[in-house]
Amino acid sequence: MSIKVRAAVIHGANRPMTIETLEYEDLRGDQVLVKVEASGLCHSDLHIIDGSAGHTEFPAVLGHEIGGVVIGCGPDVKTLELGDHVVALFCPQCGECPNCKSGKTNICQHFCGEGQDASKLTWNGVEVARPGGTGGFADHTILNESALAKVRKDAPLNRAFYTGCGVTTGVGAVMFTAKVEAGAKVIIFGLGGIGLNVVQGARLAGASMVIGVDLNPAREDMARSLGVTHFINPADIEGDLAAHLIELTGGGADYCFECVGSTKLMEQASAVSHPLWGVTTLVGVSPYGQKIAAEPTDYLMGRKLQGTMFGGAKGRTDVPKVVDWYMNGEINIDDLVTHVLPLEQIDKGFEMMKRGEAIRTVLTFD
Ligand code: NAD
Ligand code: ZN
Repeated sequence: MSIKVRAAVIHGANRPMTIETLEYEDLRGDQVLVKVEASGLCHSDLHIIDGSAGHTEFPAVLGHEIGGVVIGCGPDVKTLELGDHVVALFCPQCGECPNCKSGKTNICQHFCGEGQDASKLTWNGVEVARPGGTGGFADHTILNESALAKVRKDAPLNRAFYTGCGVTTGVGAVMFTAKVEAGAKVIIFGLGGIGLNVVQGARLAGASMVIGVDLNPAREDMARSLGVTHFINPADIEGDLAAHLIELTGGGADYCFECVGSTKLMEQASAVSHPLWGVTTLVGVSPYGQKIAAEPTDYLMGRKLQGTMFGGAKGRTDVPKVVDWYMNGEINIDDLVTHVLPLEQIDKGFEMMKRGEAIRTVLTFD
């Protein structure tokens, strides 16, 4: 017996999605059937839609920010039961692989569903790809147990979904990857669905100066309300932006975060970090094949450049903590979820993202 789902299918880069009925194989092993209640639109999906990620497997169902309810469990599922509230993890935590056991990484060997016994998704007999292994733009999805974080039931799923990527990536980049300390001077390039969460992390860490850089003037009010102390629109700066930022921070930032995915900005971020101890964390995903250039001598005195995936968070352990931070009022998710759309209007949601009108759009299902 198969399990039918209603999903938004993408047929190729820069083509509209269509709503179709697809089929999963029946549950087996450690697979879990999730009724999707809320599914967020992330710029990483847009990178696949606009072709910049270089993704070639179509048809596909995108979507990796998923909040839902467990409605079916395969025979080997041990830690979840019917009715549990869950957030999907493109970065799972099996707990058993060498990576999970290591304190040095959050990248489980089953990253993006790699090597897991995944339920095959088909449309009229044709296999449908699920980048990230999640398949969130659908009313139901099937994930392996290790790719689901159990979250408290009093947290609304139309908020908790966002901890499956944006919130955890942004807050975690500060808390888990860069480990920003109180009093630090921080610059954040890009104040979208990810960057604004880096702002929240910087505020939580007690940073004394939080400079937000974005070309979209509409981002200023939200950024300030979340903790930005200086908002800079590069278009308003006469002369060199880098020189301005170095002067403002008194010689370079302690921590920079690139949250756009622009190789030019990545270079610029590193260049305005303090030459002796500045740490730049790359969060944005750059277009497939593009490179950054660096002068090695710029790093010999101690400056560092590093990346982060999912904010360095181990999903099953850390996502429930991030949900607690939201429930305790330490981080704001309510104001960042700016738009709610039905699955049928998913293309409109990505158009709003391109125009910078939405911070997070969430799809809901009847
Ligand atoms: P978004 O579209 O919501 O926000 C991007 C922001 O960058 C916008 O506010 C835009 O105005 C701003 N911007 C664009 N060009 C700029 C420039 N030249 N200078 C300053 N600001 C500029 O996107 P998002 O959902 O926040 O995602 C941001 C990036 O993070 C994407 O590349 C996404 O793929 C990546 N991402 C990475 C991870 C990870 O684990 N590393 C996880 C999720 C998303
Ligand atoms: Zn994402």
